Amino acid sequence: MPELPEVETIRRGLSRLIIGRKILGITTDSPKQIQPSLAAVKKAIVGAKIKRIARRAKLLQIFLSNDQILVVHLKLTGRLLVRKKGDPIDDWQHVTINLSGNKELRFADLRKFGWIKLLDTRGLKLEFSKFGPEPLDDLTLEKFKEILSLTRRPVKQVLMDQKKISGIGNIYANDALFLAKINPRRPASKLSAAEVKKLYEAIEKVLKAGIKYRGASDQHYLDALGKKGAYQEYFLVYGREGKKCFDCSEKIKKIKLGGRGTYFCPKCQS
Ligand SMILES: [Zn+2]
Repeated sequence: MPELPEVETIRRGLSRLIIGRKILGITTDSPKQIQPSLAAVKKAIVGAKIKRIARRAKLLQIFLSNDQILVVHLKLTGRLLVRKKGDPIDDWQHVTINLSGNKELRFADLRKFGWIKLLDTRGLKLEFSKFGPEPLDDLTLEKFKEILSLTRRPVKQVLMDQKKISGIGNIYANDALFLAKINPRRPASKLSAAEVKKLYEAIEKVLKAGIKYRGASDQHYLDALGKKGAYQEYFLVYGREGKKCFDCSEKIKKIKLGGRGTYFCPKCQS
C-alpha cells in the first residue's frame, strides 16, 4: 500500500501538473469506488477548478474552487495518473476525470479497494478526525512518547495503527525499527526513553529517504506520471529475508506480526 512518502510524491506531481485546470467531466466503469455516487460527484465538480492538492496520512485531498473537496484513498493498488487526452488507456483504469488543456486525471486500481469521496469542509474535518498525528508534521516527540506509553501492543503494530499515528505502513515501520535497533515485537510501553527518541528520529529519517527516492515501487506504486520510485533499492530490512544485515552480516529474518510480513535482524534487534 502506498505510504506517506509514496502519496506525498504523487501529491507533488499532481500539484505540478493539474493545479488551475478546470474539471470538464468524470466517467467510470466502477461506480462503487465513487462516493456518495457518480451523479452527485459529477454535479458537484464539473465546472470547478483545481485549487490546491494536500495530503494527510495516506490520503490525498483535491481542493476545488467551489469549496468542495475530493478525497482519494489509493488503498492497496491505486494509482493517480495524469495523461493527455487520447493517450493509451492505462492498466486497470477505472475512473477518468477530464480536465482543461486536453489533460486527464486517471484513477487506476487493480484490486478496486481504493475510493474517491466528495466532501465539504465539515465532512473533511470529520473524515480526518479518525487519524492520529503524523510524522514530519504534528507528531511531536512528547506525543509519540505518550502514544507508545499507553499500550503493550507490539511496537510495530502501534506504528502502523492509523488511529494512533498516521502515514506509516509496513515498509517504513520495518525499516525505522531496524534503524533504531528495536525488535518489532517489543511491547510499546516497555521502550526506554532513549529508545523512543531513537525510534522517533528513525521514523523521520526513513520517511525522508522514501520521499527523496520518490517512493518504493517493489509492488504497484507509480507516481503521477506513471514512473517508478527507487526506495526499494534502499530497503534496510523490508523484503530482505535471508539476506545479510547491512550492519552485522547476520541473516535478516521474516516473521508474521499482526498478519503482516515483518523483517528484522535477530542480532541488531534482539
Ligand atoms: Zn544486524
